Amino acid sequence: MKALYLTGRAQVEVRDIPIPNCPEDGLLIKIDSVGLCGSDVRTYTVGSAKINYPVILGHENAGIVAAVGSRTSGYAVGDRVVANPAIPCGKCYYCINKMPGLCDALEVAGTSFPGGFAQYMVFHGAMLQRGQIIKVPDEVDLEPMILAELLASVIKAQSDLRVGLGESVVIIGAGPIGCLHAMIAKLRGASVIVLADVSARRVSLSREYGGTHFVVSSEEDLVRTVMKITGGRGADVCISANPSAKPHQQGVELLRKEGRLSMFGGLPKDASMTTLDGNMIHYKRLRVFGAYSYSAADFAKGYDILTEGRIDSRIITHRLPLERMEDGVRAIQDGSAIKVVLKPWMPG
Ligand SMILES: [Zn+2]
Ligand SMILES: [Zn+2]
Repeated sequence: MKALYLTGRAQVEVRDIPIPNCPEDGLLIKIDSVGLCGSDVRTYTVGSAKINYPVILGHENAGIVAAVGSRTSGYAVGDRVVANPAIPCGKCYYCINKMPGLCDALEVAGTSFPGGFAQYMVFHGAMLQRGQIIKVPDEVDLEPMILAELLASVIKAQSDLRVGLGESVVIIGAGPIGCLHAMIAKLRGASVIVLADVSARRVSLSREYGGTHFVVSSEEDLVRTVMKITGGRGADVCISANPSAKPHQQGVELLRKEGRLSMFGGLPKDASMTTLDGNMIHYKRLRVFGAYSYSAADFAKGYDILTEGRIDSRIITHRLPLERMEDGVRAIQDGSAIKVVLKPWMPG
């Protein structure tokens, strides 16, 4: 089978390797679609402390059961499935206290073991027992289900923020996550949804996905524009969905009193310091939220919303074979793609 290996920083190689054996307590999956995630782009570009080279990335996986282990029940060859890549241990403090996304021993597909950037992938026993695999009915399109993982973290962040009816939400970063935030904010009843990005190209691609106002923040002063939109009061909520620290301070400035800020996007390891005006947080009584990971319940919610057709899957703008993964990285970086999906069976 074909598998895409990341062999070093910004180095990939498609190799022909044997199809892995199906474990007795697991499944062998023929990968239909696998998302090229912002975190994969970051791992490709700057590396990651969580991986050892060579590695097969890919954690947003949807596929078809190709073999069932002899000690596995409940699955049949041909079942269509989407997998939550996160496998909590079930035993640590955070698992016991219903915060499995923060599990001290969290295993993640594509990081802790080979992921879906390949024609076949093993879902091992732990994935079946402690993880989450959802069977997708025949009448539901399989490819958009890879968005369930992104949606899970978006849903978790917005439920922490309690985005509500009639609120104004500013989303800084108009990539796939920004677009999903806009769609979820709309579903939760927000009435003003500002999508901002430094890239004019990204902003123009994001126009159909729930936003009510669009700002190219490299050309226009975002804070001033938001003040104008909100009649000088400031926004109720700001979500920083990008890998840069500057928007954190913009968020502090553009929020109303008791506004809520989510630091949704992780920052590069060597640029993780941020500067916030402490007095603005103090006097405006702002609420600042971290946002990382999600639970199985959030994943299930994301899946349900997708199958109900309430998410516009046209945000998947690019479908590429494994051989063209680096074209996908470039398209994400230059703002010509929203979401890129790799199709391991598409001829290179
Ligand atoms: Zn992802
Ligand atoms: Zn745990």
